[in-house]
Amino acid sequence: MQIKGQLLGLPSYQPGKPIEEVKKELGLERVIKLASNENPYGASQKAKKAIQDALESLAVYPDGYAAVVREKVARFLNVRKEQLIFGNGSDEVIQFLCRALLTSESNTVTAAPTFSQYKLNATIEGAEIKEVPLIDGVHDLEGMLSAIDEKTKMVWVCNPNNPTGTYVGEDRFLQFLKQVPKDVLVVSDEAYVEYVDAVDYPDTIPLLEQYPNLVVLRTFSKAYGLASLRIGYGVANEQFIRSLDPVRPPFNNTNLAHVAASAAIDDQAFIMSCAEKNRLEMAKFVAFCERNGLSYFPSQTNFLLVDFKRKGNDVFDFLLRQGIIVRSGEALGYPSYARITIGTAEENEHLFSALEKLLQSSVATVN
Ligand SMILES: *Cc1c(COP(=O)(O)O)cnc(C)c1O
Repeated sequence: MQIKGQLLGLPSYQPGKPIEEVKKELGLERVIKLASNENPYGASQKAKKAIQDALESLAVYPDGYAAVVREKVARFLNVRKEQLIFGNGSDEVIQFLCRALLTSESNTVTAAPTFSQYKLNATIEGAEIKEVPLIDGVHDLEGMLSAIDEKTKMVWVCNPNNPTGTYVGEDRFLQFLKQVPKDVLVVSDEAYVEYVDAVDYPDTIPLLEQYPNLVVLRTFSKAYGLASLRIGYGVANEQFIRSLDPVRPPFNNTNLAHVAASAAIDDQAFIMSCAEKNRLEMAKFVAFCERNGLSYFPSQTNFLLVDFKRKGNDVFDFLLRQGIIVRSGEALGYPSYARITIGTAEENEHLFSALEKLLQSSVATVN
């Protein structure tokens, strides 16, 4: 068998360690996972109820058109139903975009470091990836514009950016959008949009009318607390969505995901209360960093990327022994950092006392 050249040596995705595995390995009773930016408050009760009600129809294929959730999301965003494409997580929509647009003759422009799935999927399609370094943790949109050439098919703006949590403001985004050639797709990945409170964060949905080369990605995995169900979507110009749809597998969402997402979107009170609690706990974490002289990137998300001035993997190992799973910055392009999800008040307390121990420990510090 001959595997495509670009797949040789590609690593598999390294997920955050599962809680049960860590408990067993280290003999810990309680383990907190602050590694994958999941919602620590879970999901809306309405979503759980909807799943219970759907349990009688497990034998039936889901609706391939996702009509019910499509209607809900269209109404919520004030777009036409035909402007939406649903994926098995927004990860899958990233895959659709790469599959539909990229070839070995083309390239794509991303920031670096940013969400890993853009590069991975583009690599699988054989495309060249032009990476433009962040400036102070923020997308260098001017640099990304200059990187666009006649072979560029798409540009990725992860806003807010994972792993830094920083965002691109409305003025800069609009300036950028105006200058990107009309035949180059701009992807605005807004996985954390529900947490954003910056007043100048771009409102991209109304821009879709004017910019047929814009696609917005959203997900039910983060603030909606439905990561296990795998549902996210893309919104764009109707014609573009129609041409993208053939790459989508016919039953790529489960019915449980459809009913849960439909119910969850109706419970905006839940989303707002989670965002509010997240802001409170984020403020506590930021204050902790300030008190302890730790630098971090200002975040509009539910995670904070913190510089511990020692190997990210050592921070990871130390906290793991304290029963806290975080994400080492070493695989994220920030070797002396760790990316930590904002947990509940109680999880935060636990985190702070573990971090105090870390800061007093003799783990070697770097630079
Ligand atoms: C988590 C995340 C996603 C993907 O989430 P899905 O679970 O696949 O919907 C996409 N983009 C960014 C930036 C993320 O952090």
